[in-house]
Amino acid sequence: MTSKNKLPETEDGTILFNIDPIIIKHHYEINYLHSYAQDSPFFAGLAKGKLMGSRCKKCNYKFATPRSHCMECGAKTEWIELPLEGKIHTFTTCYFGSEEFLKETPFTLILVEFEGIDTLFLSRLINVNPENVTIGMKVKARFLRNSKFKATDVYFIAFE
Ligand SMILES: [Zn+2]
Repeated sequence: MTSKNKLPETEDGTILFNIDPIIIKHHYEINYLHSYAQDSPFFAGLAKGKLMGSRCKKCNYKFATPRSHCMECGAKTEWIELPLEGKIHTFTTCYFGSEEFLKETPFTLILVEFEGIDTLFLSRLINVNPENVTIGMKVKARFLRNSKFKATDVYFIAFE
């Protein structure tokens, strides 16, 4: 038997929101080490103001959202630099969003079409009111000056 037979008490309380069922406030925080692995060049590109896609070495299919292997033929791809200008293929206006984007609602998500590239790129359009966005609108990429190495480092603005 040890000499310790009682745990120390604290004066911290618990925030109680409901009794039946009991709902308490519980702070949750975690540092998560996330590897971008083979996608790393895409995020490094964002920090350098470049959009990196990929090209199939066998069939030449070009992906705006990079793939390590071709979705058409399965061969390995190589990195290519995408144009920074394109046009809106389609769009949607979001009136709700996850916590990070909630304060920006409504915001517009666009699928960007690049000349000579076979797939589309999902991003945000920031300088056009949702009711004025049109398919075919010319857009160009902008990058956060201080990269966060996230997909949101790039966004698009309409021009012309
Ligand atoms: Zn291929």
